[in-house]
Amino acid sequence: MTIAQRIDQIRSFIPSHVRLIAVTKQVPTEAMREAYQAGIRDFAENRLQEALVKQEQLQDLPDLCWHFIGHLQSNKAKKVLESFEWIHSVDSLELLQRLDRLAKELSNVPRICLQVKVLPDPNKYGWPIPEFLQDIPQIEKCCQLKIQGLMTILPLGLNEAEIKAAFETTRKLALQVNGQSQLEIRELSMGMSDDYQWAVGEGATMIRLGRILFGERA
Ligand SMILES: *Cc1c(COP(=O)(O)O)cnc(C)c1O
Repeated sequence: MTIAQRIDQIRSFIPSHVRLIAVTKQVPTEAMREAYQAGIRDFAENRLQEALVKQEQLQDLPDLCWHFIGHLQSNKAKKVLESFEWIHSVDSLELLQRLDRLAKELSNVPRICLQVKVLPDPNKYGWPIPEFLQDIPQIEKCCQLKIQGLMTILPLGLNEAEIKAAFETTRKLALQVNGQSQLEIRELSMGMSDDYQWAVGEGATMIRLGRILFGERA
């Protein structure tokens, strides 16, 4: 199947309001152009340097929306703020507060998803739920930023029921936060190639797909 056929097929499985974000780490720009031709406008990268090179190479495509999804080192925070419209991977209070301070000097600030770890996973970044709830009062104070969503990545090796439960937990966490704070979490960035259909079933508004569109990464 071509990239365009894969995109069409996925679109036929998901409601039209769900934002299909193409994860293009290690994917060459030729393949990104194919995805663009098939209607993709949202591209996600996890490394700043790779993204900057591609942004340069794809300058002729005017209406791209760039998403940052990788762990963000604090020395790169400013450049990421300037170069992306969405940051999905804000994974600690310290990073959030740093971004908030830096955002004061920017005219255009990206939209933010807070990365939460709904199940324990030593290999992943993000707030464990209890710490996240504790940090809400400080998160609310970061008012230079447009905090709009929660992002989650599940541990490997879960069964279907566990995956659905974890996505449901994320959705309910957003409701809880909206109920008890000034935050307005409207976006749920959850679901990757192997689990996006379940994520959509549990209310994902943004899915991040790599391999299912572009094939296995090296
Ligand atoms: C790589 C990556 C994806 C895409 O994963 P696939 O399994 O290739 O769909 C989604 N989100 C994040 C944060 C990633 O790093």
